[in-house]
This record gives sequence, C-alpha cells and structure tokens, in this order.
Amino acid sequence: MYEFDPHLHCIASGHGTTHTITDLAKQAREQHLSMIGLTDHGPATMHSGRVSYFRNLKYAPKNRCGVEILYGVELNILDYKGNIDLDYETLESLDYAIISMHPQNIRPGSTEENTFAYVNAMKHPKVKIVGHCDDTKYPVDYQALVLAAKHYGVVLELNNSSLSPEGYRGDTRSNARSILYWCRYYRHPIVLSSDSHGKENVGDFRYAIELIKEDEFPEELILNTSTKRFKSFIEA
Ligand SMILES: [Zn+2]
Ligand SMILES: [Zn+2]
Repeated sequence: MYEFDPHLHCIASGHGTTHTITDLAKQAREQHLSMIGLTDHGPATMHSGRVSYFRNLKYAPKNRCGVEILYGVELNILDYKGNIDLDYETLESLDYAIISMHPQNIRPGSTEENTFAYVNAMKHPKVKIVGHCDDTKYPVDYQALVLAAKHYGVVLELNNSSLSPEGYRGDTRSNARSILYWCRYYRHPIVLSSDSHGKENVGDFRYAIELIKEDEFPEELILNTSTKRFKSFIEA
C-alpha cells in the first residue's frame, strides 16, 4: 500500500555502508516499492559525497531495476540561522532536499533556536522534508513547525529508524505523536521514511506504521500512498 521510500543512503554517505544505488533499487523492488528517493548526507558530514557528487546526480539514470529514482540530499543545518551545506545552484539540480540536524554539525540549541533554524532552512524551494525532527536532543515547537511547513510546502517525516528499538535519538515516540497530532489538527500531510543506511531497511516503516495505527492517523494524510501525489507535492 505504500509506494515509495523518500529517505535512503548509499555508499556515498560514508557510515560504513558499501551498498550502491543499484543495490537500494533491487531491494526496493523486492519490497514492492515503485520509487525511492536517494538522499545522501550533505558535504558537511564526514566521509559523505562532495559537492561534485551531488552536481553529477542529474546525469544518473532515473530508473534502475524497474524502480524510479529521485535524486536528493539530506542537508545538514549548520547553525541556528538555518544555513545549509549545499549551494543554491547544486540544490536546484536535485529533485528535493531533506533538512536535518546532526550532532556532528550543530549543537542542540533551545526550543526557540532549533525551531527558528528549521523554519529558516525550509525557505529554500527545493527543501521538501524536515528530517527526524523527533530527535529528543533537539527540542522544537511542533505546532510552530507544522504551521511553517504548511506555509512553505514542506512535510515532516515520521522516521522509522528513530522509532526503532535500535534508534539513537532517544525515546522519540512522544515527539512523533506531537508531529501526528499537529499534522492532523492542521490537515497537513506527513511522509514515512526508513532512513536506511544501506539496503537492509529500504521500505521498512514497521514502527512508524505501529504508531499511525495506535493514533488512528488518517491514511489520506500519508504521502507514501501515491508516488504521483508526492511528485506533484515536490514540484509545487
Ligand atoms: Zn539524518
Ligand atoms: Zn538520513
């Protein structure tokens, strides 16, 4: 019932994974997905792709092993002003971008600082997803974040790896619930993501689905049900 996974990492993200884009595509096909979004870490992450890697993605095949591929990036938010780690021109050549806070690149600020940083980073037209903002290290004002997301045409993700028992962002369930609460309140969609580093967890949304069922979150507010809908969302 879910057609795509928008947040995946291949060998170009470092972190020890040796899987290629084709490996991810093959795994996606096995999981019956028709589309994946490749979103390697931006250049500020140690051992990740350099700017030239992201610049060349526009020449990469749009279809591998029968699976449509979107080429994006998981940007690092670098400071509380919301500055990010790819230049405007390179971003323009990609399908979309995720904005995330990672401890290597930004120290957790106050709720106001973190929220302000996310909202400012949302303003770039290629930014379409806020990555793992359920992280307990980076408190945010979820109501403000969802309102801004609605304004700028961005969605918050429900990150399966955060919710997994092996997750390393603290117990994110209550933050994930706040995301669901405010998205339902303002009728703004969410997107499920595996955040798989390598092929192992491609299309694995099991913990996110658990939460969605518990909270009876409306299916029509989940973008993963239609690749068409997601594509028109990122093109809007
Ligand atoms: Zn991340
Ligand atoms: Zn990621």
